[in-house]
Amino acid sequence: MNILEPMSAHDHEQVIAFQNRAVGLRGILAIHDTTCGPALGGVRIWRYASEADALTDALRLSRGMTYKAAISELPCGGGKTVILLRDDLQRAEAFEAFGQLVESLRGRYFTARDVGITDDGLQAIARTTKYVAKEPDPALGDVSEHTAIGVWHGLRACLEFAGIAGKGSRVRVAMQGVGSVGLHLARILKSEGMELVVADVNAARANQAAAELGGRMLPPDEILFADCDVLAPCALGGVFSLETIPRVQAGIICGCANNQLATPEAGDELARRGIVYAPDYLVNAGGLIRGAEYFLLGRADSLPSLAGIHNRMMRVLQLAQERRVSAARIADELAEARLKQAKTYRDLHWGGSPPAASRPKT
Ligand code: NAD
Repeated sequence: MNILEPMSAHDHEQVIAFQNRAVGLRGILAIHDTTCGPALGGVRIWRYASEADALTDALRLSRGMTYKAAISELPCGGGKTVILLRDDLQRAEAFEAFGQLVESLRGRYFTARDVGITDDGLQAIARTTKYVAKEPDPALGDVSEHTAIGVWHGLRACLEFAGIAGKGSRVRVAMQGVGSVGLHLARILKSEGMELVVADVNAARANQAAAELGGRMLPPDEILFADCDVLAPCALGGVFSLETIPRVQAGIICGCANNQLATPEAGDELARRGIVYAPDYLVNAGGLIRGAEYFLLGRADSLPSLAGIHNRMMRVLQLAQERRVSAARIADELAEARLKQAKTYRDLHWGGSPPAASRPKT
């Protein structure tokens, strides 16, 4: 398996492969860029088909975190960890061992929850490192809820841009995935008077969400193509491709899932079809904003910052319309421009050396 080549393709700073045979732990920690500050990014547990797939996911997700931080103008960079789900994985012990690794980086990387990580997992990681968004933590708040609030601000901009605004306009939303973020988002949308149809491969979650929110349920393989105004992908990435897009009926796509576009061309195809697409890392930045403000800036409340997602989203949609390119490409351009500016500043003032690792403010 090649490691250095895929790392250099998108200029990743560091990749750490780690294992602890006694507790069945195997994983990859990728740090994409620390120009603007320490790398922030959660840890995901997933049953990967191969080590190469796990590496690809870690590289892609960590780069997405850098872009998310850059477009949100946060003083941090991007990282991500993937742990390979195996039958011999002893979760609590493995998380403690992973926490030791994070601690050894002394603030160069902060971790948090991602797919497959429960509160117990975060507590276990927090036994061996302070560089983790441990939940529940009343001072930090619910990171997934912050993400959902951020997506809502992004969706408000999409609805305004598309001319569908205001409470009670019976907007129909199809939700793919009602997990940690999806359920919070569904509750916000319901409170705004929207009609929901939900799907989740975890049938119990779909049932619970539908019962609580009075929504309909659809089979998971039909939700992307539901007859609706808004499609909210809140599960896993890669859902929009040149094969799936022609069957999408929604006029707006806005959800929390990372890496929703299978390829950059998928973003172009959405734009060509007139579908308003909210770039994933722009609208799902709420959790990162909360984490960065809590750990690095010591802020008690991030709700005002989350509202900024609305204006960023609107700016991206307007630029995309003016320049006749996809919203996804505009978001990439804005994020890359900020990163370039930060690198120039660093090179001028610090002779190119990376910034010192940060200590948590709390
Ligand atoms: P989660 O694991 O709590 O929820 C994901 C849900 O999607 C689960 O209920 C799962 O059963 C369901 N699911 C998986 N595949 C599905 C499919 N094909 N069809 C329907 N449902 C499916 O995860 P989460 O924390 O809510 O994160 C969801 C997405 O948002 C992920 O892509 C994650 O990387 C991204 N994200 C999360 C946060 C956060 O704060 N948690 C922040 C930014 C981005």
